[in-house]
Amino acid sequence: MRVIVVGGGVVGTMHAWQAVERGHEVVQIEREAEARGASLRNFGQIWVSGRAGGEELDTALRARELWERIGAEVPGLGFRANGSLTPVRTARELAVAEAALARPDAAARGYKLLTAAEAREINPALRGGFEAALWCERDAAVEPRTAQLHLREALRTRAAGRYTFLAGREVREVAGLGGGLGAGPGPGPGVGPGPGAGPGPGPAAVRDDHGDVHRADAVVLATGAWLSGLVRELVPDLPVRRVRLQMMQTDPLGEPLTTSVADADSFRYYPAYKSPALDTLNAEQAQAPIAAEHKMQLLMVQRRDGGLTIGDTHEYEHPFAFDTLEDPYEHVAAVAESFLGRPLPRIRHRWAGVYAQCADTTRVVHRQQVADGVWLVTGPGGRGMTCSPAIAETTANELGW
Ligand SMILES: Cc1cc2nc3c(=O)[nH]c(=O)nc-3n(C[C@H](O)[C@H](O)[C@H](O)COP(=O)(O)OP(=O)(O)OC[C@H]3O[C@@H](n4cnc5c(N)ncnc54)[C@H](O)[C@@H]3O)c2cc1C
Repeated sequence: MRVIVVGGGVVGTMHAWQAVERGHEVVQIEREAEARGASLRNFGQIWVSGRAGGEELDTALRARELWERIGAEVPGLGFRANGSLTPVRTARELAVAEAALARPDAAARGYKLLTAAEAREINPALRGGFEAALWCERDAAVEPRTAQLHLREALRTRAAGRYTFLAGREVREVAGLGGGLGAGPGPGPGVGPGPGAGPGPGPAAVRDDHGDVHRADAVVLATGAWLSGLVRELVPDLPVRRVRLQMMQTDPLGEPLTTSVADADSFRYYPAYKSPALDTLNAEQAQAPIAAEHKMQLLMVQRRDGGLTIGDTHEYEHPFAFDTLEDPYEHVAAVAESFLGRPLPRIRHRWAGVYAQCADTTRVVHRQQVADGVWLVTGPGGRGMTCSPAIAETTANELGW
């Protein structure tokens, strides 16, 4: 089979991975010179702890297994089973952690409630004040800025000629069997006779902005949060929205931060923590006004160079800000410092990223056939990095690859 994957982010690359692994020929098309979307801008958290029980948790746990397996084959991903700690400071926060521990799926997540001393044994860099911490053993991390490069390098080796990455080509049109691209201009200069570049037996086709038509048996559109243009024409009423986040990264900390770290505000956003105890927390313990205004939580993970990736905010209303705001950064830096019990190193990078999220946030992903042989896979939201290997596996199974 010949498969075309449109989009060079993690959702696209994991679909390419599944197709190559099942013996197919893959052409992956990316409009930028390199992927530049959410997949590079995220924390790299393979985040099991906050997932809703049921399909969402099952997907995350399966994806965690696949990440570990792929990480063993692709050391450049920097996969590490670092786990996470969520320190708590008040009785109300502790009650939410205890309610999480009472979940029937707590053991599958590797939840444990630790004293502050036990938490510091696991992560000695947490010298700030807190009473206890929720440990999630299943959480893990990879290096998002370079993950796609390493995955593609591995794909080239594994596929031995069956994998091609075409950069700098925006797909403008797709068609299934009998669609409008049959009479297209065919392969043009620069595409050459490589796999997927010329007229072929496949029922589906895409046209890029060089005018070249690429044919395949199956096309997966993994175009992330680009919901206008091509995607809007295909599905005008797509039940997916866009969310913008602010992030930052420091210079090296100078010591290991052995686990990922979240603050108790994260309880307010992740579905796993829904409980009467959370209702009490929300009703009786106000978030800092700046955190409430920007729907903030602290998430912090150490990069392999020692720097810390720290976030985040959540913006839902359009038009999104075109700039980053300093006040939320000051707040999240202060929270991070309060757990570390020391000043943060200099901030080296600040950026914003946008992800696509299903309007019904209980859905793991939006997967829709948009033409004969053509599927759109988008909207995994803030769990796309975590879940992408399992999302791609499900697509491959459902499509009978
Ligand atoms: C700041 C931030 C932090 C996050 N943290 C985490 C986290 O720690 N853990 C987690 O699980 N998830 C996290 N997420 C969510 C996760 O990053 C996304 O769900 C995931 O990266 C989506 O991957 P994608 O491949 O669908 O999209 P993208 O990475 O955006 O890739 C889509 C690609 O498609 C290309 N493209 C679009 N249209 C076309 C076209 N017509 N032709 C050719 N190419 C096209 C784009 O250029 C882009 O490179 C975070 C997201 C953000 C923004």
